[in-house]
Amino acid sequence: METDFFCHEIETLSREKLENLQLQRLREIIASAIKTSFYNKRLAKVGIKSPEDIKSIADVRKIPFTTKDDLRQNFPTGLLAVDMSDIVRIHSSSGTTGIPTVIYFTKDDLNSWTELVARSIYATGARKGDIFQNMMSYGLFTGGLGLHYGAERIGMTVIPVGGGNTKRQLQLMKDFKTTVLHITPSYLLHIHESMESHGFNTSDLSLKKAFIGAEPHSENTRLKLEELYGIDAYNSYGLSELSGPGLAFECKYKAGMHVWEDAYILEVIDPETGKNVEDGQEGEIVLTNLIRKGNPMIRYRTRDLAYVLTDSCKCGRTHRRLSRILGRTDDMLIINGVNVFPSQIEEVVMRIPEVGTNYQIYVDKIGALDRLTVKVEIYSKMFTGEVKQLDALKKKIAEELRASITIHPLIELHEPGALPVFEGKAKRVVDVRPSF
Ligand code: AMP
Ligand code: ZN
Repeated sequence: METDFFCHEIETLSREKLENLQLQRLREIIASAIKTSFYNKRLAKVGIKSPEDIKSIADVRKIPFTTKDDLRQNFPTGLLAVDMSDIVRIHSSSGTTGIPTVIYFTKDDLNSWTELVARSIYATGARKGDIFQNMMSYGLFTGGLGLHYGAERIGMTVIPVGGGNTKRQLQLMKDFKTTVLHITPSYLLHIHESMESHGFNTSDLSLKKAFIGAEPHSENTRLKLEELYGIDAYNSYGLSELSGPGLAFECKYKAGMHVWEDAYILEVIDPETGKNVEDGQEGEIVLTNLIRKGNPMIRYRTRDLAYVLTDSCKCGRTHRRLSRILGRTDDMLIINGVNVFPSQIEEVVMRIPEVGTNYQIYVDKIGALDRLTVKVEIYSKMFTGEVKQLDALKKKIAEELRASITIHPLIELHEPGALPVFEGKAKRVVDVRPSF
């Protein structure tokens, strides 16, 4: 019999049973965490020496937060709870070759993650029989392989094309009558804009749904995409530190993203004080992974801002829902779905000898896509040289940046003194993308 649920029992557990399950799983995670050099010390400091020291779910709040800096400082294996030979997959955050945050999965971890992704996809109404074109990049980024295996688990027909090459994407959609896409919202908008120039139009396509995520977007963007393509678009949120997609996903009612609370403890905190806030109040999302044993992650500060919805969902799932992501508490930029920290750009630009002391990171939009321009001041003696020499320098800066941040920026060279000078804290990032 057709049902609306991939796993009815778990998805509709009463709050009481859900919390009991969370407690049991939290204890299991604590048992794993104690085996890591990082958490072993951390937990001992707050008096947690064994899983039995956790008496209730609220006890999680005794444990200090884990931050991205903790992950960097304990790179590469400080958070590993098992022998490396039991790890079957490694992932990493998008666009972070300069800043290692690495995530490990055992075979069981991959299996339980895949279940969550399958459950998420199923909640949107996608089923076996759907043709699924996965347009998120494959590789270290969790978005590609994560959705891939979840869709296969349901029995969907997967086209593992990855990102880019618009014409080919359209041809595949047409040839295989693709019904479901996984894609960043900006790329989906872009495809519509360039469709005609590639010789396609929407009547060539059989699309019904798109899973959109990896970057912030507004309700209006969703509505626009739905109208342009005649589809339903579902928001998907995840981050590699917490295993990527399958963390929070919209069901067919599209009214906020269910966080799978049997697999995650969801908290929202005031980013200034670190104190927990009530449901309905905006704050920073903090998550504990309850199912990834090889690489435990307890109270991870995501830096993403959102709030928990307080009403229940029409679908009958008891797992709480998150609002859209409303912003970030740090300076991380998301450029066409790729995370970029200004410090990574600075690090590259400043090691190039021809570059002077001032630079600016400028982000705007060309049509639907984000564009990154790095403006750098170079020493005036360079301007006496040939144009060819300047072009070569531009190319060199662009290539070195690409190697670090994985995206290709435009480079503008400026004479000394041409870029704004700051006496106080420099404002190096100018982001003129329309806010949503
Ligand atoms: P990564 O670790 O590379 O998967 O990047 C994760 C980050 O991407 C998150 O911390 C968010 O800032 C952002 N992100 C992912 N999904 C969404 C979404 N649906 N809406 C807004 N931002 C998102
Ligand atoms: Zn729902």
